[in-house]
Amino acid sequence: MTTKPDDTPIPPGQWLGLLGGGQLGRMFCMAAQSLGYRVAVLDPGADSPAGNVADRHVHADYLDPAGLARLSAIARAATTEFENVPAAALEFLARSARVSPDASSVAIAQDRIREKAFLRNSGFEVAPFAVLASAHDAASADPALLPGIVKSARLGYDGKGQVRVANASAVADAYRALGGVPCVIERFVDLACEVSVIVARDGRGATTTWPVAENRHRDGILDVSIVPARVPGALAARARDVATRVASALDYRGVLCVEMFVTRDGALLVNEIAPRPHNSGHYTIDACVTSQFEQQARVLAGLPLGDTRQHEPAVMVNLLGDLWFDGLAATAPREPDWRAVLAHPQAKLHLYGKSEPRRGRKMGHVTCLAPTQDEALAVARAIRGSLAIPGADLL
Ligand code: AMP
Repeated sequence: MTTKPDDTPIPPGQWLGLLGGGQLGRMFCMAAQSLGYRVAVLDPGADSPAGNVADRHVHADYLDPAGLARLSAIARAATTEFENVPAAALEFLARSARVSPDASSVAIAQDRIREKAFLRNSGFEVAPFAVLASAHDAASADPALLPGIVKSARLGYDGKGQVRVANASAVADAYRALGGVPCVIERFVDLACEVSVIVARDGRGATTTWPVAENRHRDGILDVSIVPARVPGALAARARDVATRVASALDYRGVLCVEMFVTRDGALLVNEIAPRPHNSGHYTIDACVTSQFEQQARVLAGLPLGDTRQHEPAVMVNLLGDLWFDGLAATAPREPDWRAVLAHPQAKLHLYGKSEPRRGRKMGHVTCLAPTQDEALAVARAIRGSLAIPGADLL
């Protein structure tokens, strides 16, 4: 393997650029800063989690040429923290800076139709699906895909843009309800569990994966990640291999999350890919030698990949904006009593500094660490109980 010309290391002290101002960007900033980099964040929001910790906040729209020019004037390399970043913004920056991931990988992850076609054509197993490009396609959907889920091709996340369908007429209704935009219909698969693997791939094609996370969702939003996943070792090894091969098939550079379904008959289906660090990899901050965010900075800067070894079993619990409202009827938010978390010495609290709590909004997370998984689960259960997070059955 040879070093590509643009792979010269960018030493600490230099600037790295980031598109997007959310919590993933905030955690990237913090990791890059602790390696000694300065970070410039381009984000249209005045008060954003990443913008507030960045060394410089370029307050501009993603497609504003003047804003992009300001970012590329200081940063020799840039990355993104969300997949819906306009490809044109990445292409603009790529004219003068190293950009990872590249616009083509991001474009695949942005569009379920392209994503599924890429995965299937590259030999990965996915849930049976068909493209719904028109009302006619929706009216004549293959009955073998029922019961199923109609998912909009673009801009769907955290379960948004999805409708469950049981019969042919429901498919047409769902297609209309989603606005007549391009969709896929996917057969509902019998899940044993959902897992994800974060993989990092550098400019020379070297890869690392982290241990497999077992993910539980509530209302379509990730609620808990349990790591290592409670699956047989051979299945975990397969999942890490799938993630590595997906990154290679994309000729990917950066940090990528591969979300997978484990079916009751032991198949591993790739559900979706995210071209960035992922919520299910937040445990790596506290539980691993190198976090997904540090690795993102390392790849971007052309430094060697860090060790992904996990020190201890971990259970990550998301803290949603619902916690700021005292019951369903409450309209005025108030700060939760964090003593319920801080009383547990094995719990690591992360709050994203968002000034406006909203129900369903990701406001922070807590990672529970312990010498055994049972102990980590017990701490997570106690914290969920004290904070009155519903869904005790999720653990
Ligand atoms: P997605 O946005 O595709 O990740 O879907 C959100 C959640 O819906 C997933 O995490 C699963 O819990 C569930 N889901 C999505 N597609 C399927 C499917 N084909 N079969 C069963 N459950 C699914």
